[in-house]
Amino acid sequence: MEITERVAYLKGLAEGLGLDTESKEGKVIVTMIDILDDIALELQDHQDQILEISDGLDAVSDDLEDVEDLVYEEDEDDLDDDEDEDDEDEDCYATTCPTCEETIYFDESILEDGEVICPNCGEKLEFDISDVEEDDDSDDKE
Ligand SMILES: [Zn+2]
Repeated sequence: MEITERVAYLKGLAEGLGLDTESKEGKVIVTMIDILDDIALELQDHQDQILEISDGLDAVSDDLEDVEDLVYEEDEDDLDDDEDEDDEDEDCYATTCPTCEETIYFDESILEDGEVICPNCGEKLEFDISDVEEDDDSDDKE
């Protein structure tokens, strides 16, 4: 039973008693019931507010998830664009593995590390920026 319902029940009991509200004892009991009533209502308000805040947080959380999806999707779109517009993206590079001659694609962050692991044969390739050319199919000199 909700606290508000229990207080209402208590009120009914007190009324059934035929309390003399002019007597000292009657005044004390009536005042106590009034206070309980107020507390129950305030408690109910707080619970409602907590539910509202909780719903608000859920909405914010959902929105944040949407934003995260957008951000990650944009990253994926960038990678897709690299394949379509090789010449226009300065952040994508290609080099040829000297061990297995597989063409390896990588971005600027790997260039700053100065090394990349060949995904084909596992060979570690070290280089500096002057060793690599921008990803361009027409660069193949062999
Ligand atoms: Zn290799």
